[in-house]
Amino acid sequence: MDGINVNAIVLSVMPVGEADRRLLLLSKELGKISAFARGARRPTSTLIGAARPFSFGVFTLSAGRSSYTVQKAEISEYFEDLSRDVEKSAYGFAFSELSAYFARENEDGTEALSLLYYALKSLQRGQIPMKLVQIAFECRLIALNGLMPSFAACARCRKPLTEGAFSSALMQPLCRDCAPPDAKLPLQKSAVYALEYIRTSPLNRLFGFNVTEEVLREIAATDELLVHQAVDRELPARAMLSVLAAD
Ligand SMILES: [Zn+2]
Repeated sequence: MDGINVNAIVLSVMPVGEADRRLLLLSKELGKISAFARGARRPTSTLIGAARPFSFGVFTLSAGRSSYTVQKAEISEYFEDLSRDVEKSAYGFAFSELSAYFARENEDGTEALSLLYYALKSLQRGQIPMKLVQIAFECRLIALNGLMPSFAACARCRKPLTEGAFSSALMQPLCRDCAPPDAKLPLQKSAVYALEYIRTSPLNRLFGFNVTEEVLREIAATDELLVHQAVDRELPARAMLSVLAAD
């Protein structure tokens, strides 16, 4: 039987039985799917490299009754630098976890896959702070799922937004005139610009900007609220990032 080729990244890996692994894949063609890598825990297996978190490439699958089996894989990017760095891999695991949360089976995974790929690339390159990569990745994934508000205009008066505050009650941004004077989540001009850039920029340029510490804190607060609203369960890998940051 001919296999099905999918472009995919390994979101997570679980040992199964004595020698197998079960992979959770985020694929362009089939969305989120589960696939068995038979014998992948044997040292001689040709699937060892494919059955690792972050492995990206073309997976040839055969379809069974209830799941897929990996016949072979051509991995083009292993993200080895990530796997070797504890902090970077912690961020990578958190990104994979959130990707898995939003992805569904049998949907077009093109955008979600590209987003994760560019986010991991950015972690690997290390040119911008990991926290900024996290904020851009999370907000954009939330935007892909239709849950990020526009930062182009004030949600109340509809005037173009330059600076203001994020309203946690409305989950929308307000301009300086419409926000209460004691607004808890201020957004300076650069923060508004950064959030709108994250929402709308081409994916291949999403991780190509940097911000000051102060702007990073402001957009992190907005990101935190957006994630909290969009996700209705615990995210253990994401929670680990706070533990790392506290050290
Ligand atoms: Zn306004």
